[in-house]
Amino acid sequence: MFDNLSDKLDKAMHVLKGHGQITEVNVAETLKEIRRALVDADVNYKIAKDFTNTVKEKALGQDVLTALKPGQLMTKLVKDELTELMGGEAEGINLSGNPSVILMSGLQGSGKTTFSGKLANFLKNKKTKKPLLVACDVYRPAAIDQLHVVGDQIGVEVFSNKEEKDPVKISEAAIAHAKANGFNAVIIDTAGRLAVDQAMMNEIAAIHEAIKPQETLFVVDSMTGQDAVNTAKAFNDVLNFDGVILTKLDGDTRGGAALSIKTVVDKPIKFIGTGEKMEAIDVFYPSRMADRILG
Ligand code: GDP
Repeated sequence: MFDNLSDKLDKAMHVLKGHGQITEVNVAETLKEIRRALVDADVNYKIAKDFTNTVKEKALGQDVLTALKPGQLMTKLVKDELTELMGGEAEGINLSGNPSVILMSGLQGSGKTTFSGKLANFLKNKKTKKPLLVACDVYRPAAIDQLHVVGDQIGVEVFSNKEEKDPVKISEAAIAHAKANGFNAVIIDTAGRLAVDQAMMNEIAAIHEAIKPQETLFVVDSMTGQDAVNTAKAFNDVLNFDGVILTKLDGDTRGGAALSIKTVVDKPIKFIGTGEKMEAIDVFYPSRMADRILG
């Protein structure tokens, strides 16, 4: 995960090796290397520049008598800033309400259906939750079948109705079904398109308005870099979602989405997907991710 970024940041810190203290002169080269590493990881230039400016201010503001060597001090400052950039504290999902309704949004192929299954499995394992999965893709029957396969794998019931073409009605019927049958969490998997379009936005906005979910999550493929950030902005403008799910972090992703999304939409990353299996889900902890990036 983010190997290239880790290597480049490591090299940037080496520039300070052998120096007794951080000065305006010796820190400049390191900051330039850090900025380059972030931009190469697909972080937009302004975010990268703000990042290094903050690190610079903090580095030069440090008491020169600090016990840390310049390289160590810089590593600590960069780690702290990376943690902030990715959201600071970890934030869980809102499971209030009976049932707690969780609406999934995102483009086709982002990993929505897979993540819906992972989340259902995660909640089921918590023991206090009995989840119901809901198939709301009225355009692709294969998507409904896929959710049934996922549901069978994890032993979670899937609500679907191939005859009904209105996703609002399916969602409402699913919530009524949950209430009548003792399901206390409802995860609604919606249709996605290959690119943001108005019809899709109107449809998900209508579902959101009708069912008023406790939690609206935006799922995005971390391999898509800057596009991931642009798509997040488009969805957030319409849904004002509560959190981001970053999928496919097991792949050869550069890290830009993880590092930029919080700044652009001001919403936390809540979970990450790290594989195709139902168990490949992790709560997102910004500080742990920063630790990982800096080795
Ligand atoms: P949807 O169209 O948004 O519902 O996307 P899917 O859930 O069908 O996922 C699209 C593809 O990405 C499938 O082949 C999934 O197995 C795969 N996928 C989903 N999440 C992950 C992940 O975290 N890691 C990897 N490697 N593959 C994933």
